[in-house]
Amino acid sequence: MARKKVLVLGGNFGGLTAALAVDHELGGDVDVRVVSDSDHFLFNPSLIWLPFGKRKAADITFPLAPTFEAHGVDFVHAEATHLDLPGRKVTTSAGTYGYDYLVIATGYRNDYTVVPGLGPGGNAYGITTLEDAIRAGEGWQRFLEAPGDIVVGATQGAGCFGAAYEYLFNMSHQLRKAGLKKRVKLSFVSPEPFLGHFGIGGLPHGEGLLGMFLKKEGITAHMDVGVARVEDGRVVLADDQAITFSYAMFVPPFLGQEVVRAATEIADAKGYVKVRDTYQTAAYDDVYAVGIAAAVPVPWQTSTPLGIPKTGFPTERMAHVAAKNIAAQIRGEQPRAHEEFGDMPAVCVMDAGNNGVIILADKMLPPRKHGVLIPGPQAHAMKVAFEKYFLWKARHGYVSLP
Ligand SMILES: Cc1cc2nc3c(=O)[nH]c(=O)nc-3n(C[C@H](O)[C@H](O)[C@H](O)COP(=O)(O)OP(=O)(O)OC[C@H]3O[C@@H](n4cnc5c(N)ncnc54)[C@H](O)[C@@H]3O)c2cc1C
Repeated sequence: MARKKVLVLGGNFGGLTAALAVDHELGGDVDVRVVSDSDHFLFNPSLIWLPFGKRKAADITFPLAPTFEAHGVDFVHAEATHLDLPGRKVTTSAGTYGYDYLVIATGYRNDYTVVPGLGPGGNAYGITTLEDAIRAGEGWQRFLEAPGDIVVGATQGAGCFGAAYEYLFNMSHQLRKAGLKKRVKLSFVSPEPFLGHFGIGGLPHGEGLLGMFLKKEGITAHMDVGVARVEDGRVVLADDQAITFSYAMFVPPFLGQEVVRAATEIADAKGYVKVRDTYQTAAYDDVYAVGIAAAVPVPWQTSTPLGIPKTGFPTERMAHVAAKNIAAQIRGEQPRAHEEFGDMPAVCVMDAGNNGVIILADKMLPPRKHGVLIPGPQAHAMKVAFEKYFLWKARHGYVSLP
């Protein structure tokens, strides 16, 4: 019998894990191909450090081809441009590939349209792509020549709040190191209903702890508010307050990729794929989506809209569930592995430069039985150690390790 073909779109947290895990589940008795428009893996969590020169691009990336080659997975550096799901094939910039099982792990793109004045060439920096973070670093160097006030935040609809908080606290740390802390007014802007909501409903004592951190660092918070526009040197909030700045960074909302959004039989209006808890799409048993590409409904209504943080840990869990189910289907069994996003544990570190908070909860979304925030310098050490460990694990393709 011909070997089954598994096609994976995207080669970062979700795609790399799914591709190697399905190969591992089947002992290599499967043809796995990864198509990614990036030929490098990017450890996005370290983008918060790049603008301050604490990391270079080469420190937080590695080339994908050797990793996949070492595991017998075919790697194609190309962009997927059209999904023909009834025909079981995907058009890419390098040709058309058929599949028996498809995994969509194409992640996010920034939605800069939500606020005038954001995005490349706009009036505020971003840190959610490598290119954005490099520009934010160039801006930081210019800022050091002519310091002034700083605004860091997340816009309405954003979900990646951890990155906004981490950049804020790292910024405060860097200002202190540069001897500028007393001269610079640092403001935080967020659509979250309260400090430490993080897009996951908050955790016990989180608001108080974050409030204490902000007070200690002399940071002014503007919560539960959207951003109307970012002008040159001035951000105007939805409540008409204006904050002037010499340097600003905003985390925007994310969207799914256009190629996914165009496949309307599986995607919602934002380009995220509607999935079951098996990570099969609602519409096709043989098409899966994992990581940021998978739609996760926001379980609450807030006065200022929020997204949901689909972080690395749940992305890997989704990829393993998908890999197990594809392997089961190939063996002629039912796909039985399943786990709702909201039921996955929350495991995260919020870095603050030389300090931080370890965030642990039994579930990503409430109701929860346990949730704890552990502040202290060990959090920073943990994030640094995790970065090294994760890059080693991913580069060698050891995706079965925790
Ligand atoms: C600044 C920042 C800080 C973060 N910090 C943390 C943290 O501390 N902890 C944590 O757990 N998570 C963190 N995250 C979240 C984490 O990075 C995501 O959970 C993770 O990147 C999701 O992986 P993914 O594979 O779903 O998507 P992505 O990482 O977005 O990968 C998608 C891949 O698909 C490729 N692709 C896109 N479109 C196409 C196409 N048309 N054809 C082919 N390939 C395509 C892309 O090039 C990319 O390589 C952070 C994210 C950011 C941005």
